Amino acid sequence: MDFSIPPELQELLRRARNLVETEVYPLEPEFFEKGFNAIEGTLKKVRDKVKAEGMWLPQIARQHGGLGLSLLEHGLFSAEIGRSPLGHYAFNCQAPDSGNMELLIQYANEEQQRKYLEPLLNGDIRSCFGMTEPEYPGSNPVWMGTTAMKDGDAYILNGKKWWTTGGEGAAFCVVMAVTDPEAPPHFRASQILVPTDTPGFIYEAVTPFMGHRGEGWASHSEVRLENCRVPQSNRLGPEGAGFLMAQERLGPGRIHHCMRWVGVCERAFDLMCRRAVERAIAPDRPLASKQFVQGWIAESRAEIDAARLMVLQAAWTMDRYGAKAARDQISLIKFTAANTMMRVVDRALQAHGGLGVTDYTPLATFYRMERAARIYDGTDEVHKLSVARRILRRYAGASGEDA
Ligand SMILES: Cc1cc2nc3c(=O)[nH]c(=O)nc-3n(C[C@H](O)[C@H](O)[C@H](O)COP(=O)(O)OP(=O)(O)OC[C@H]3O[C@@H](n4cnc5c(N)ncnc54)[C@H](O)[C@@H]3O)c2cc1C
Repeated sequence: MDFSIPPELQELLRRARNLVETEVYPLEPEFFEKGFNAIEGTLKKVRDKVKAEGMWLPQIARQHGGLGLSLLEHGLFSAEIGRSPLGHYAFNCQAPDSGNMELLIQYANEEQQRKYLEPLLNGDIRSCFGMTEPEYPGSNPVWMGTTAMKDGDAYILNGKKWWTTGGEGAAFCVVMAVTDPEAPPHFRASQILVPTDTPGFIYEAVTPFMGHRGEGWASHSEVRLENCRVPQSNRLGPEGAGFLMAQERLGPGRIHHCMRWVGVCERAFDLMCRRAVERAIAPDRPLASKQFVQGWIAESRAEIDAARLMVLQAAWTMDRYGAKAARDQISLIKFTAANTMMRVVDRALQAHGGLGVTDYTPLATFYRMERAARIYDGTDEVHKLSVARRILRRYAGASGEDA
């Protein structure tokens, strides 16, 4: 693995960091105080600037109007823009839209691309992804209750979804629904594009989230599908391939999240170090003189560097050898990066004392919003189990025993 960063990429990273610091950081206080809708208009202007500066859609191929960065390059880019909770949105590479873009690029036909993909790439609309259901375990996504039954040339959808991130204000939802209950579990569901203004697509609630309701892109909707009728031509990809497509979507999606979390870690680390040298705990005695704080700083630096290298290695493996080869690495980084972020943000918050739990820094927002990192896109436990099982299977294979 080559650790050098080519000069052009270095320059791009420097410009991205500069744009986040000068244009996105100033929006944060209002976002923390008033929510997403209050800053959406200003954020749109920042997005225009990102476009004008040629940094729009870093992760998307050039033929679709993006920068065409490899996953490894996007990893480095994400660590810069992930320093702000609004960074990825400003560059139009935020979840869940980025995953949906990748799905549509791979599976959408011409008509679906024109109707859904193009406006998404332009940033004219937002989208959401509806897989998880309140009555079924998200950890076992082949078991779900939502159905899409054929009726003439249409599908009729019925069921309930929740944790539909960014649902409020989204133009369409990629809904996972069972199209053949008799098929083997992994081939029962399909992915269907459902415009959110379709009759029977009902927003029931925005889920209260760690003491906040959230709004717009920064919220999570509960949706009821009640005899919701869409043409069969709205199916994305082959019938019964929904689960496999979701797995494909989640591979790069997990790396994208981990890369963003490295950015969160770096911002928290910067804030902690600055506070340590600037805060005097007695005349001529900075907080930085205390060994507790020095310990936090040394441990955080080591843990961030370790997580960063693991994430970049997973991205490199995926770029070179594909998702299957990177499977173990993706599981390992998913829980490692999430837990590293938790520890680093917690230490940075503690170093700020009372200030840490105010909204005068982004730390409290990181602490609150990012706790879910250990849950979505595969819980810690499921990733640990699946990677351990694969490792043990290799040992069992070697000794001829079953694990
Ligand atoms: C902020 C946030 C955003 C989300 N965004 C989306 C989205 O946009 N679209 C979408 O479809 N979903 C989304 N989700 C849903 C997410 O993917 C699920 O919450 C996740 O898959 C876990 O499913 P569950 O909540 O049903 O937990 P459950 O499956 O009920 O699991 C509960 C707990 O049980 C434990 N557990 C589960 N299985 C095992 C096992 N085999 N062995 C040991 N322990 C186990 C784990 O600790 C887990 O935390 C989001 C969730 C959150 C919190």
